[in-house]
Amino acid sequence: MDNIIIADQETHFFNDVCTYFDHAAQFTKHDAGLLDQIKSCNSVYRFRFPIRKGNGFEVIDAWRVEHSHHQSPTKGGIRYSEMVNEDEVMALAALMTYKCAIVNVPFGGAKGGIKINPKNYTVQELENITRRYTVELIKKNFIGPSIDVPAPDYGSGEREMSWIADTYATMNPGQGDALGCVTGKPIALHGIAGRREATGRGVAIAVRECVNVGEDMQKIGLTAGLNGKKVIVQGLGNVGYYSAKFLTEFGATIVGLCEFEGAIYNEDGLDFDAVFQHRKATGSILGYAGATKEFTTSGEGLEQPCDILVPAALENQITIENVGRLQAKIIAEGANGPTTPEAEAVFYANGGIIIPDMYANAGGVTVSYFEWLKNLSHVSFGRMNRRFEENSNLNLVNMVEGITGVALSPLQRSTIIKGASELELVNSGLEDTMIRSYHEIRETYKNNPGIDTLRTAAFVGAINKIAVSYQNLGIWP
Ligand code: NAD
Repeated sequence: MDNIIIADQETHFFNDVCTYFDHAAQFTKHDAGLLDQIKSCNSVYRFRFPIRKGNGFEVIDAWRVEHSHHQSPTKGGIRYSEMVNEDEVMALAALMTYKCAIVNVPFGGAKGGIKINPKNYTVQELENITRRYTVELIKKNFIGPSIDVPAPDYGSGEREMSWIADTYATMNPGQGDALGCVTGKPIALHGIAGRREATGRGVAIAVRECVNVGEDMQKIGLTAGLNGKKVIVQGLGNVGYYSAKFLTEFGATIVGLCEFEGAIYNEDGLDFDAVFQHRKATGSILGYAGATKEFTTSGEGLEQPCDILVPAALENQITIENVGRLQAKIIAEGANGPTTPEAEAVFYANGGIIIPDMYANAGGVTVSYFEWLKNLSHVSFGRMNRRFEENSNLNLVNMVEGITGVALSPLQRSTIIKGASELELVNSGLEDTMIRSYHEIRETYKNNPGIDTLRTAAFVGAINKIAVSYQNLGIWP
């Protein structure tokens, strides 16, 4: 497929995703027509709308792409970025299709884009843009709890999701499930506990699963386990911040942090939370007192000594140009598309391993699925059974104490008796999903000698699952 030319900028992200797909498709047995249907973007909606800015008007470019309707609704975040373009939104929508299949979330893939730098707009202007974007989607039937369900992505968060939910509910009076039209909402607006940190938590679980397999670590010259592993994270936004937080909780040491304005490093470890606060206060990670080295570009930060690199900012960060200088043995792709296909081949040839985006950052869509289920069922997880569970556990503890004559301490009693909260159930579902999916991908990788990377294995699994959906629909034999 030819690369798409946008203005004078050549874009290749969708082409890269298709390259990965075509490579993996060789290891499946599906009809060429079916593979073509799976790979193509089903609907691409490009639109423009005016907003009032200052004393004048500005016309905003925006997109919503529904890559695959093999499952409904379609699902995917909305990116607010001045760099966003049609090729990028198509690529991200395609990745969503494969991602949902990998973690068994019953959605098709979609993605949205609004071409603005949010920093250049007031809150009121951002609200106007978001509400108008939503109205445009409603007009074309590109949003709805059973149609297409957006979520946060780069540059957007809970606030934007609230505006979308409110606009959709207002325009659809009486629709009981209206709040299921978008996920990543604040808890007060029927969001779900644990969604904010879900993607980063998922990244950390993915890394933990990978490094816990001693046999695989031996092949790349690392010891098993996360304890003491040195990690560099690029991007201190939603995904990067929570990846750093949970990797630290699991025993790893954050030695490097890279942001837009530069990078910092300390081989003995950085307190990522203190760096985050420093950036909030000063507008930059540079100048943080606990760093021993500073770099004026994010790219230099990626090349410092570490075991694990977590790119969690944007695509095309690891390319043929810089891959040879990376010192990490594992790349865990928090961002979508951070590694180009050529760079991936070199990284593996140099004895590394890549935990691919479509699996590594799937924690977000997994918990979005839970939020959507909560919105459709109109009840929070745990509400019906928590007290029942606690009473049953209490009866059991009383009985065991009575029979054995051994009295438990108050802490032991409360630990055993306690029923699960919504957050605990969400985290349990997320952890289970990430662990099962990793081993499913790894088994495919390990048991098929021709399959060269975890990404190829992930694609093979996704293609097979999507093919079954089409076959179940009776579209392909
Ligand atoms: P975000 O806007 O919260 O954070 C992104 C961060 O990256 C910002 O702090 C930004 O300053 C920084 N950044 C931008 N360019 C950079 C550069 N060149 N070098 C270093 N840092 C840079 O966005 P996010 O939601 O964390 O998304 C990050 C990536 O993760 C995107 O690729 C997104 O598609 C992907 N992702 C996000 C989610 C989610 O739930 N938010 C889920 C899956 C995948």
